[in-house]
Amino acid sequence: MTAKNKHAEPPPGDDSGVADLFAPGDSVSQVIRHFEPRPQQAKMASAVFQAINKRTHLAVEAGTGVGKSLAYLVPAAIWAVSNKKKAVVATYTKALQAQLVKKDLPIVKAVLEKLGMKLSYFLLMGSSNYLCLSRLERSERLGPELFEESEEQRIADALHEWSQTGHSGCRTEIPFAVPHQIWDEVCRDSDVCLGRKCHLKDKCFYRKDVAQAALSDIIVVNQHLFFAGMPLPTFDAVIFDEAHNLEEVAAGFMGFSLTDRKIKRFLDSVYNPKSGKGLAKRIKRTPGTWLSEMQQAVLDVNFASQTFFQDITEKLGFYGLAGPGSVRPKRVVTPDIVDNCLHQPLLALTVLLSQAIGYAHSDQEGAEIKGHLKKCMDLSAQIASFLECKEASHAYWVEVRSLKRHREIALNMAPVDVSESLRKELFGKTFPVILTSATLTVDGSFKMVKAQLGLDKGWELLLDSPFEYDKQAALFMPQDIPDPSDPGAYQEAVIRECFKICSAVEGGVFLLFTSWQSLETAYSVLSAQLSGRPLFKQKDKIPHQLITEFGHAGNGVLFATDTFWQGVDVPGPALSCVVIARLPFISPDSPLEEARKEWMTAKGMNFFKDYSLPKAVVKFRQGFGRLIRARDDFGAVVVLDPRIQTRRYGTKFTRSIPKCRHISSLKELKDSCKPVGALTSDPE
Ligand code: SF4
Repeated sequence: MTAKNKHAEPPPGDDSGVADLFAPGDSVSQVIRHFEPRPQQAKMASAVFQAINKRTHLAVEAGTGVGKSLAYLVPAAIWAVSNKKKAVVATYTKALQAQLVKKDLPIVKAVLEKLGMKLSYFLLMGSSNYLCLSRLERSERLGPELFEESEEQRIADALHEWSQTGHSGCRTEIPFAVPHQIWDEVCRDSDVCLGRKCHLKDKCFYRKDVAQAALSDIIVVNQHLFFAGMPLPTFDAVIFDEAHNLEEVAAGFMGFSLTDRKIKRFLDSVYNPKSGKGLAKRIKRTPGTWLSEMQQAVLDVNFASQTFFQDITEKLGFYGLAGPGSVRPKRVVTPDIVDNCLHQPLLALTVLLSQAIGYAHSDQEGAEIKGHLKKCMDLSAQIASFLECKEASHAYWVEVRSLKRHREIALNMAPVDVSESLRKELFGKTFPVILTSATLTVDGSFKMVKAQLGLDKGWELLLDSPFEYDKQAALFMPQDIPDPSDPGAYQEAVIRECFKICSAVEGGVFLLFTSWQSLETAYSVLSAQLSGRPLFKQKDKIPHQLITEFGHAGNGVLFATDTFWQGVDVPGPALSCVVIARLPFISPDSPLEEARKEWMTAKGMNFFKDYSLPKAVVKFRQGFGRLIRARDDFGAVVVLDPRIQTRRYGTKFTRSIPKCRHISSLKELKDSCKPVGALTSDPE
């Protein structure tokens, strides 16, 4: 078991016997059939208990197969139940959320029962996932005024019927598809929720769930919702699983992306000149000229919006797009690149909406008007903030995307650093924060993740995987591949090598790319050459379906990028080989990274050494981690980027993955992808 950074490890202390629960014959083994004790799991459980109990932050990396979810859930549950406290567990993916609630927490509950404790837990979704009974009632009343087609009306009626018997108001539980234009009209919207004033509050699905969460010892949520400021009940500890994504998630809530279509959708909801529908038409008690003034105000904002976005694209030199896709985004560094011609019309609309509050005939209508007013003011503030362009720690850029039937222009703002905010708003609070993932460190150090997140104090624990990587996995780095700085020759060589690898490996193969362009190019050539193999391509189907079909195929070849580098689990020979086409460096010339580089340079930091390289190493480790998911898994990882061997930084990558056999031929690759013998299966 690796134990680097000893100085920051939790000191030996009282864990109330938590580690012992994972010993052979003890409570955990009594609940899980064929449980295999792992010292790493017991050590992590002990550290988590002590950290929570002593209100100390803890960053813990636990390699694949440690069983880390039980290693934090069991101590958190025991601590919460025995001290009448509440712990929140925040995950990045819905898949892990589902695993925790459906598989792991029932086990933890059974373990606690053996100790004479009663555990309660709850999965709390974001509020817009819930059906709002008050808005549903309003939609029945206003039907034809809200919905444009009879089909929409039919679905709204079906929703009403379902709401009479449905126990949960969650969108995922509804047995039929609800298009977003209908859902937007009937879901809970925090801006218009009447809360305690609502006449349906006692039946409200969302309030029921929040109340149940408040009574639970463990609440499972999504990381996005945690940062979105969802009304979580007061809690006493938080555990972030999949914590390697935390920086990205936090950054998403400190910036914005405002599109011309979003403004149009907002205006249509106030008054849609085509259908003649909208909020303005529904407010009945307005004085004579108010409606016509409002209709004119909407037209004015619409016209100004078209002018504004047209001015921006012309100023930045965007030209028309031929088909679906996007042109290179353009960074904005100077204030007031165009006149804010939206300011005045949006102000006029704001004034009219404010007046309308006094004309509301019910609390519900008042809340709806206030919700629109808030949205209007938010739009105005975002446009002003984008044009001011004054935060040195933020990047500002414009993107133009061509979708199937329309073009979309987006103004973006994002922070290049979240550490200051998290230092204050997360780690500076009184509750302990546990960060865990299979990939938090670079070259055995937590330095990068701590710096990125603003975690200054606390313990660190680095636990390696119980899997025997030296027996189960091989690393192949073929020679004679040109450097990626010669893109044509490099791409050609990558495609050639992918073909050879797929021909040599009998089981399933993941081909992991770093860009859509290289994926598409490789697919267009290889799909003809590999016609005998079941081929899968990211985005052809939803990820879950794609992975299920790939797993069933047994010898499929999956072309993937982005999300498939992490969180995808295909045990057994169905995934025998993972090919990493290129080291996953972020593009340094995207507006966000360009701004980050300038910001870091101004602070005396080195963008490549302090950010880009460690980020790439963590992603590389994620990609590598797709291969071995169980004790009887086997196979090889092939890296086609020669820089892993030719550049000095290459060792950062090879030293950061578990020690495995290095092989040097296709013959060895073929052999490495065959079973090593019957070992006991023990998936994570
Ligand atoms: S309390 Fe809010 S979310 Fe619940 S039914 Fe009423 S308005 Fe909708």
